[in-house]
Amino acid sequence: MNDLLMHVCCGPCSTVAVPAWRDRGVEPVAWFHNPNIQPVPELERRLESMRRYSRAAGLELVIDGQPSEAAAWREWIATLSEATPDERCAACLGLRLRAAAAAAARLGVPRFSTTLSVSPYQRHDLIQAAGQTAAAEHGVTFAYLDLRGSFRESYAESRRLDLYRQAYCGCAASKWQTWHERALRKKAK
Ligand code: SF4
Repeated sequence: MNDLLMHVCCGPCSTVAVPAWRDRGVEPVAWFHNPNIQPVPELERRLESMRRYSRAAGLELVIDGQPSEAAAWREWIATLSEATPDERCAACLGLRLRAAAAAAARLGVPRFSTTLSVSPYQRHDLIQAAGQTAAAEHGVTFAYLDLRGSFRESYAESRRLDLYRQAYCGCAASKWQTWHERALRKKAK
């Protein structure tokens, strides 16, 4: 059954999210829209990894490369310098999941989900809140699956399929934070 639009953030997380839905008898349509990923070459690497996985898995992939809600994107960019990390991530998740809900409604698909729920580093309460708000705004259903238990498996699958695996969440602030935390760990050794 092809009744689920799945917002995909990257190839590695998709390697476990797609089988999880297929095991439930659902064939998802993958939908890539991640205007939060900075800089642009990093976005291209993640998109290429997603394309590679889609070919390997026989998955339909729709790429929405343009920020579909330009005002919301500008609003999120503005939060990068002045918001708390929680506010920044809530706005970022809202930006992507609102766009996913709008795409599902436009394409006549009754529900949507996201591969973001694979990562134990994401705030799942924020994902659920953003998904439910977006669903209510667009008259579709948000299907949340907690896939954190499969996160390690996605490492092995990425290696097997030779997929690029990102080192940070996505925005410039998360890149800086990851680099900073690594430097501190190194110093402490
Ligand atoms: S850390 Fe990740 S979820 Fe949070 S704002 Fe940056 S890209 Fe978005």
